Amino acid sequence: MRELDSIDVQRLNGVGPHRRKALHAVGVETVFDLLTYYPRRYIDRTAQAPISEAAVGAEITVVADVLSVSSRRLRGGRRLVSVEVGDASGTMSVIFFNQAWRERQLTDGLAVAIFGKVENYRGRKQMTNPVVDLLGDRTGRIVPVYPQSETAGIATWDVASWVAEAQRRCSPRGIADPVPDWLRSRFQVVERAAAVADIHEPSSMSDQAAARNRLVFDELLRVQLMLRSQRLAREARELGIAHEPAGDLIEGFHRLLPYELTGAQRRAMADIDADVSTSRPMHRLLQGDVGSGKTLVALHALLVAVQNGHQGALMAPTEVLAEQHFIALRALLDSFEIPDSERLSGMRPLRLCLLSGSGSATQRREVLAEIATGAADIVVGTHALLEESVKFGSLSVVVVDEQHRFGVSQRAQLREGGRDDRRIPHLLVMTATPIPRTAAMTVYGDLDVSVLDELPPGRTPITTQWVRGPLAVESMWSDVRSEIEAGRQAYVVCPLITESESLDARSAERMHAELADGSLAGLRVGLLHGRMPPADKERTMTRFRTGGLDALVATTVIEVGIDVPNATVMVVLSADRFGMAQLHQLRGRVGRGSHASSCYLVSDDEPTPTAVQRLTALSESSDGFELAERDLELRGEGTLFDERQSGRSDLKLASLARDLTWVQAARDAAADLIAADGDLDAHPALADEIDWFASRRDPDYLQRG
Ligand code: ADP
Ligand code: MG
Repeated sequence: MRELDSIDVQRLNGVGPHRRKALHAVGVETVFDLLTYYPRRYIDRTAQAPISEAAVGAEITVVADVLSVSSRRLRGGRRLVSVEVGDASGTMSVIFFNQAWRERQLTDGLAVAIFGKVENYRGRKQMTNPVVDLLGDRTGRIVPVYPQSETAGIATWDVASWVAEAQRRCSPRGIADPVPDWLRSRFQVVERAAAVADIHEPSSMSDQAAARNRLVFDELLRVQLMLRSQRLAREARELGIAHEPAGDLIEGFHRLLPYELTGAQRRAMADIDADVSTSRPMHRLLQGDVGSGKTLVALHALLVAVQNGHQGALMAPTEVLAEQHFIALRALLDSFEIPDSERLSGMRPLRLCLLSGSGSATQRREVLAEIATGAADIVVGTHALLEESVKFGSLSVVVVDEQHRFGVSQRAQLREGGRDDRRIPHLLVMTATPIPRTAAMTVYGDLDVSVLDELPPGRTPITTQWVRGPLAVESMWSDVRSEIEAGRQAYVVCPLITESESLDARSAERMHAELADGSLAGLRVGLLHGRMPPADKERTMTRFRTGGLDALVATTVIEVGIDVPNATVMVVLSADRFGMAQLHQLRGRVGRGSHASSCYLVSDDEPTPTAVQRLTALSESSDGFELAERDLELRGEGTLFDERQSGRSDLKLASLARDLTWVQAARDAAADLIAADGDLDAHPALADEIDWFASRRDPDYLQRG
């Protein structure tokens, strides 16, 4: 595979500079890329209905030749393309509205597979706007259909012929299989060479299925091998600080808490205690739905550092969130004292600092000095914590909030904060993004996981409504007003900060003006968006928190972390433009107090079919994990990685939603193949493949090690 990846596609017959450029546009640069440019689907010619037997009203696939093509303009300017197609049994007509390009695409004599509903038009069979796959002049029982690119000008039969040529030229030497025989037979997968052949040109659909299994296994195995070897190598290399987790300070903190911890919080804290009491740095993901109480768990970890005479740092993705965390921690730690033998009283107040991008230069210098001397016990900040100028006295625990917004290399950088004594701080990553189990095993394979799967008691469920149409919107605003009149507060979320003509999403600014004069007239309505000066943001948030505002019109800056128990109404405008996870996060801003809460998802006039499914799922369920599974299904294969991965995709065939058993198999296999120090020495062919594969990927995908 490494060799094939070093051969330019232009070496194949029929690929000149022009085709080469087109292939590059679809991500195919090398022969390896071409062999992993997999068919999107297959057409089994023998299983298709002959035209004569196609029943009117049925949805079927017909394989036929184009006999003639004509087109005319209809009244109103629409263009109608009519195509006559025929097979050995008969003919039928296919018409396309508003697809003038079909006239160029469908030329006489071309073989096509047409999928659609058979209609009866004046006694003849006809299909309207069907799905068309061009088969070209290919023969064979099962015809692969490759993803085509009209713009790049690559037809499916071009790809098929290049793939066939590549395979023919590989055949003298064969395609090596780095997976040892015993492992292949254990998981009952076919040899790689057979899989590569059968995924492109299977002689039966069961051969295709076996080929797919093997290639899915390969993809997942590579990922698991990389994760596991990096993890083991990291553990062998890194030295952290061993803490004593039990002590007066921690006990004092737990005594101060106004409520009982949930069982899940206790378990997570125990996991953390066990991790930080060894000198092997913790590397843990704390996963918990919105409102599950992650902040307390994080604070516990930070306080263990302080109790042991070190510092803790909490890093948030945005300034607003850093400020929120700072305020939340300050409230929890109000007048909290810690033992200090140098003081006469034997105690001193715990020192909590905010390193923000906004304060004056003098303030910043003071904070930096406190961080450096160790006078600051706990430091809260954004990625500004990673800057060169920030040097910790003795950083031993780092908590990163909402890591999906952080590059993984940044995560690595922060861990090196303890660079002075070369010891690596313990790392706790918090996320409210519910990650399905399969995905977590792959995406976060290098982290241990604690899950807060239990909400604190006394929460009232949130009623979620999908609001469509002007009448429903009007009645929603009147509901919002009555909630506010009953003393509650409301959030109104708009997708964009400024007007954009291409997306007619409502801007927060316009919406604020509109609502203050209209549906929410007479109420105290605030505005919050990311482009406001930090001091204004803080002032607005404080007013809202302390009840000085009835409603807050905001962009998604309020998506995470904001905690105002008296806010019981969440209105999301243009909700169809948001993803499932984001909507779930937004909804989690309410339902935090003892009053019943409601969430209104207002959609635009014609949401896309997937948006409809998303909004329906959200109205039906408030379980983050369930929603994440649904989302994965709706979004399909591989897309989970979109935001973290800019390079070429690792998973071309494997689907985390579909291939759970293969994820587990690959994990088990990786555990068997890799020695305890992270070495793959016993399997040089696999080691070589992983090396090569790692060099192909987005370097930010995994922590550099
Ligand atoms: P998350 O960050 O996981 O979304 P938070 O840590 O912000 O959740 O907690 C949500 C709310 O629940 C906060 O108001 C917090 O004070 C409260 N809370 C946390 N743990 C408990 C508990 N064990 N019992 C009652 N309330 C709790
Ligand atoms: Mg939080």
